[in-house]
Amino acid sequence: MRSHSDIAGTGGPRPPAVGRLLQHPDVVVLIARHGRAATTAAVKTAVEEVRAGMSASGEGRALAQRVAQLLDGSPRQLRRVINGTGVVIHTNLGRAPLASRAAARAADLAAGYSNLELDLRTGRRGDRHSLLADILRRMVGVEAAMVVNNGAAAVLLGLTALCRGREVLVSRGEAIEIGGGFRIPDILRLSGAKLVEVGTTNRTRVSDYERACTPRTAAFLRVHQSNFRMTGFTERPRLPDLAAAAHRSGLHLLEDVGSGLLPPAPAGAAHEVRLGRSWAEGADLIFCSGDKLLGASQAGLVLGRAELVERLHRHPLARALRPDKLQLAALEETLRCIEEPGGLERIPVWAMLRADARWLRRRSERWAERLRRVGVPAEVTSTEGAAGGGTTPGDPLPSYGIHIPCPRPGMVRRRLLAAETAVLCLERPGGIVIDARCVLPGEDGSLLAALAAVLGPAK
Ligand SMILES: *Cc1c(COP(=O)(O)O)cnc(C)c1O
Repeated sequence: MRSHSDIAGTGGPRPPAVGRLLQHPDVVVLIARHGRAATTAAVKTAVEEVRAGMSASGEGRALAQRVAQLLDGSPRQLRRVINGTGVVIHTNLGRAPLASRAAARAADLAAGYSNLELDLRTGRRGDRHSLLADILRRMVGVEAAMVVNNGAAAVLLGLTALCRGREVLVSRGEAIEIGGGFRIPDILRLSGAKLVEVGTTNRTRVSDYERACTPRTAAFLRVHQSNFRMTGFTERPRLPDLAAAAHRSGLHLLEDVGSGLLPPAPAGAAHEVRLGRSWAEGADLIFCSGDKLLGASQAGLVLGRAELVERLHRHPLARALRPDKLQLAALEETLRCIEEPGGLERIPVWAMLRADARWLRRRSERWAERLRRVGVPAEVTSTEGAAGGGTTPGDPLPSYGIHIPCPRPGMVRRRLLAAETAVLCLERPGGIVIDARCVLPGEDGSLLAALAAVLGPAK
């Protein structure tokens, strides 16, 4: 081996070539654990450090150790965040946290092969879209069901497969934006269907739909007004009346219910559409999300008449909107929880929506005491959370949390996000607030440690 002294003065010891270091036995182990791309990047960084004189040794084993450090120490881009906002279905925070059983199921499936597209009864090719059709049929009572990648995909696929090149009647009050740029008129345009608005923004009657029917009409589309509430001089047809009108004209009634509720409505979700009820009242095809009130993984559910679901299945777009095995594994396990007696409490979204205010208050008191003991001046405060995710606007969830006074709440908020365990808090004039509702069981210790590190007395 060449002596390092011969390059003294150029900044440091001469490092081995990147290619050679990648073959070092210690680095080979790292490639197996972290992948070749990440390991190569870390090796290059380590080599650069030697060149720049930042490392004491260019020796293989020492460099491999530095590479391991770089790989373990680099924070993941996707990380856990403690939700101190009191908003249960928080779109910025990945919406519904999964039941631990659902998460474990997804992890188990992920680590091996599965029958994602293999029919275990016939041994022939199966279909991932209909893997969960039986349980969904049983739970909602519909004729057929299909799962796609998310709620927006379900609506897009339904409109494309059933209405392309034809007209779709939508109430003016329902040609809305859901959030994140998802606008009903845009989705209709994208599907190749023509939007025909009927009625007025605040009042639409069944007769408005009937007058707008032409031979080119394919369907009525009803959209749940997820993220806003209209009050005052308003009118909207009852679903059974609208369904009857559609059927009299030989048309389909499609309903985008957004959140979609299976079990009885918890506090703060009284206005959401029950899936089973929507079907019983005559909707032909129902679309909803998996990771809103269902509390499952990101997914889009299509529920309704067999003949229509079959047409969605056969459409080429279905392939582009298909769900992956982890989504399906988590969704199936969540549905099983919902079905089991007492299983609802296992689903975090449900447990949080139904959390008892006195319990939230006691939990906040315990946090405040522990924080004061380490010099953080926390006080219990009443707060107002929400179901979130465009669900049930105007139905606040009275809650409790802690208020911590600080002169620059904006800066504290940023520092809590950058903490080892990221925490999203609420900013208030003169302080920050952590709402206790959405802090998961088991997160208390990390939350208090993060708050103490950022807000505690300087050491
Ligand atoms: C949330 C929502 C969607 C979109 O569902 P994603 O799962 O977010 O794609 C569509 N329609 C309505 C009414 C919604 O509330």
